[in-house]
Amino acid sequence: MLIKALALAAVFFVIYIMFFKKSNKEVQSNRKKSKKQAPKGDVMMECEKCETFVSEDEAIIKDGKFYCSKKCAGVK
Ligand SMILES: [Zn+2]
Repeated sequence: MLIKALALAAVFFVIYIMFFKKSNKEVQSNRKKSKKQAPKGDVMMECEKCETFVSEDEAIIKDGKFYCSKKCAGVK
């Protein structure tokens, strides 16, 4: 009886692990999808002053030109 209970517990444990791994993968693929939907962050822009490449998210736009930092943009 005890062995049956242990076997049942093991089966439930395996099912739990499989389900947990599957849901984990689904979360990761969802994250990848959301990244693809927002490709803006992966676009690299060249700094107008020092020619350093920065992601569009981090770049500072001044007069329609991209800068890597406030220093290069001349913004205080
Ligand atoms: Zn710069």
